[in-house]
Amino acid sequence: MEKKYTKIILDKIKEYDSIIIMRHTRPDGDAVGSTMGLRQILRLSYPEKKIRLINSDYSDYVAFLENEDKDVSDNIYKKSLGIVIDTGDVKRISNKKYGLCKELIKIDHHIDHSPYGGISWVEEERASACEMIAQFYFDNEKELKIDSFAATAIYTGMITDTGRFKYGVTNSSPFTYAGKLMDLGIDVELLYAYLYAQSFDEMKYKAFVLRNMKITENGVAYVYISRATQKKYGLNHEEASNCVSYMENIKGSLIWLGFIDNEDKTTRVRLRSRFVTVNEIAEKYSGGGHARASGATVHSKEEMNSLIALADETLKQYKKKHKSWI
Ligand code: AMP
Repeated sequence: MEKKYTKIILDKIKEYDSIIIMRHTRPDGDAVGSTMGLRQILRLSYPEKKIRLINSDYSDYVAFLENEDKDVSDNIYKKSLGIVIDTGDVKRISNKKYGLCKELIKIDHHIDHSPYGGISWVEEERASACEMIAQFYFDNEKELKIDSFAATAIYTGMITDTGRFKYGVTNSSPFTYAGKLMDLGIDVELLYAYLYAQSFDEMKYKAFVLRNMKITENGVAYVYISRATQKKYGLNHEEASNCVSYMENIKGSLIWLGFIDNEDKTTRVRLRSRFVTVNEIAEKYSGGGHARASGATVHSKEEMNSLIALADETLKQYKKKHKSWI
């Protein structure tokens, strides 16, 4: 079944001279890695085709992979095959011109609430979209070419989306593909330096988060980052949003939340957890995502407090019913 999709998609790619690759807004390592990796594979394999990666926003976190293409005319879109990766819902596609493409392919591992695309290869149980791109390559290995840059891009998304093989990893597949990619020449030491090295200011911000985070009765840790705090620490929105990862390993705190004010007076919510499922909480607040990592938006302090209360109640019920949590 899976093999069939990778073959169907390759056959469709062969039909087009122009391909436009897209991903979700506020891209993470998986969104950037999968699209960058696929672009590189297709460019190496089909030098005569125009393969473009076009989106409207970027990621500082994985800037070492970034190098996207400039937008093109509507006429080019109309002749192109669009491939959208790692994006559950058309509303989250970073390239708003996706609808102009002659045909659209969806490749994704989010819950398929909003299907789209003439060809839709969605596997919710996949740990990352990059794992699917790795499979696309290895299933079609005889016809496609790859290099160490593409392998690094794909590997990056596999490790960032799984928290270094911690989340959503339920079988050997992510390790199998990671191993195969490793043999293509990934500089792991350099890659981890890119992912972990922080500036002095970011370290100071981390200290702020650890000093100012709060915890609810049942163990939901959370922090609120106002625009003023973002300004004080000289952070852009993405850097400020890292606050959620600093609260990851508190004993008994199985859910942790970052509230980061957006420029438009709404507040971005980042939900993270271990053992407990949080996407249902996110879905009640204009969001969604994965079981252990979701995103949402709140519009007032009241809404923020009610989300915290729901997370607290969710955690209370979880702890009541389960034993083996830490
Ligand atoms: P974030 O905390 O923004 O990194 O989001 C964590 C995960 O939830 C990512 O896989 C996102 O793709 C997903 N996500 C974030 N915001 C939304 C949203 N508004 N709707 C659906 N999924 C989301």
